[in-house]
This record gives sequence, structure tokens and C-alpha cells, in this order.
Amino acid sequence: MATASGAELKQNEKLIDIKKEKSDYKISTSKSNYSAKYVIAADGVNSSTLRKLKWEKFNKEDLILTITQEMGLNKKEIDERLGNDEIHLFFGIKDLIPLGYAWLFPKKEAITVGWGNQIGKIKHSKREFTKFLNIPFVKQSIKNTKLIKYAPHLIPVGVRSMLYNDAVFAVGDAGGMVDPISGKGIPYAMMSAEIAIQTINYSEKKGKEEKMGYIYNKRLDRSFLSILKQKREFRNKIFQNDEKLKSFLELWETHRSSEIILKNLL
Ligand SMILES: Cc1cc2nc3c(=O)[nH]c(=O)nc-3n(C[C@H](O)[C@H](O)[C@H](O)COP(=O)(O)OP(=O)(O)OC[C@H]3O[C@@H](n4cnc5c(N)ncnc54)[C@H](O)[C@@H]3O)c2cc1C
Repeated sequence: MATASGAELKQNEKLIDIKKEKSDYKISTSKSNYSAKYVIAADGVNSSTLRKLKWEKFNKEDLILTITQEMGLNKKEIDERLGNDEIHLFFGIKDLIPLGYAWLFPKKEAITVGWGNQIGKIKHSKREFTKFLNIPFVKQSIKNTKLIKYAPHLIPVGVRSMLYNDAVFAVGDAGGMVDPISGKGIPYAMMSAEIAIQTINYSEKKGKEEKMGYIYNKRLDRSFLSILKQKREFRNKIFQNDEKLKSFLELWETHRSSEIILKNLL
């Protein structure tokens, strides 16, 4: 979509350094050097752009460690074991995951087995993940499958305190723009990038460059960020105890989480 609207895509090119010199950013990569008036950091939860520019790190409470395994199996067996149009989510504060959830996703030629827990609550990630694998239903579902991929990854579930500074924008995971309850981040990454571009165009056209940060934050809030921030608060309420979590999950079967919050249904 970006290239279709005029962006030039450069792949396999690692950011090495970024510095501001006079009014431009000087960017060096593994292949070349660039100069830019604006920078949009879209380099994920560990954003090296923002690290090199000395932006604050995410708080521990705002990071979820996920472990996923792709387990190869033929489609017929997958459908028999998990159904072909169901996802399986596993919750349980006391006995499984203090702050997060685990999942089994049936795919075309593999079952994704995943687990995600707030970083500060993990004592031993591999051991806790293995405990999930040993739940009888999970064990049975992945019996005689072939491990294709094992990948740990972080998900940020709290918005950065700063999303703009001195012509640099944080978008997507780099800004912590992820639904803190479900971990959904793809639509917010796309929307925040679009809003960053719109902010630059609008501010330049109206001569409001000095208000760019304010405009960016306001547009994000109006679009989706204000509800994500409310969800972050709400998440603490859901994960207080198993009873609260169960009540939320029952509501979640028929309502969107934003509706549960806005209508105060829990
Ligand atoms: C296990 C798991 C399951 C998920 N499931 C879902 C889901 O079902 N639905 C959903 O909406 N979201 C899901 N998410 C969240 C979603 O993946 C992210 O929110 C989304 O990918 C964020 O997009 P992004 O472009 O901001 O960052 P990323 O997708 O992380 O992309 C960042 C890019 O920057 C590149 N990069 C990093 N450092 C450098 C560097 N120094 N130089 C050059 N390039 C660099 C990386 O290679 C990468 O390509 C899931 C996340 C995880 C971990």
C-alpha cells in the first residue's frame, strides 16, 4: 500500500545511526546515507531509531513477552483437532498466566501455539510455556506435529509518554499502539502511520509546524488512541482475579471490549 502511494521500499537495510545536524536528520544504514527533514519511526517495539535518539524506554509493566511455536500438521488433522474456523484462547490468572493469555490457532498447514505474559510477572518463561503445552487439550492437539518455528517476541501494551519530538514520529509498536487486552496492533500501526503523514502535510500547508506534536496526538486520540489508553487502565481491572476475568470473558463473547468499557458493563 505504501509503495502504491509513492513510497520507495528499501529492504535488508539496517539502521546504523541517526543524528540531527542543523535542521535535518542524518541517517546511516548498512547500505547508504540519507538526509531527512522528518523521521517516522516504524521499527517496532525495540525501535533502534528512538533508542539512538534517546527516547525513554517502555516500562516493564507495558511489555508482554510472547512465545510462539508453529507446529506443522496436515489440514485434515488440524480441522479434526481444532475445527477449521475456531481460535482457542486460554486464560487463568491463578493456574496459567497471571497477566495475559495463551492460544491455539489452526492455520493451513500448521497450528500456532502461543503464550503471552506481562514481563514482570514471569518467573521462568520456558517452564511456564511448557506448562501450557502440557494442558491435556493442548497436548492432544499438537501430538505428532513437527516444530517448524519457535519465536519469542515482545508486544508493547502501553502507549509511550512521548509520540512526537523534534520532527520525529513514533508509529505502531514503536509508539506502543497496541490493544492492551487482545494484543492487536496491525490496524493501529497502519492508522498511526497514515495520521503521521497527514499531520506533516496539514501542518506544512497551514504553516503550523511548531504545533505538529499537538496535532499528531490529538488526531491519534480522536481516531483510536484515547480508547486504547482507557483499555490499558481497564486491563488492570480485568486481571484482578479469576472471577473478574471470567465475567469479562463472558461479556467479550458478545460485545467488543471498547463497548464493555464505554458502556461500563463490567
Ligand atoms: C505473537 C504475536 C501475535 C500477534 N498477533 C496479532 C494479530 O493477530 N493481530 C494483530 O493485529 N496484531 C498482532 N500482533 C501485533 C502485531 O504484530 C504488531 O502490533 C504489528 O506488527 C506492529 O507493526 P509495526 O510495523 O509497528 O512493527 P513491526 O511489525 O515489529 O515491524 C517493525 C519492522 O522494523 C524493522 N526494523 C527493526 N529494527 C530495524 C533496524 N535497526 N533497521 C531496519 N529495520 C528495522 C523490523 O525488521 C520490522 O520489519 C501480534 C504480535 C505478536 C508478537
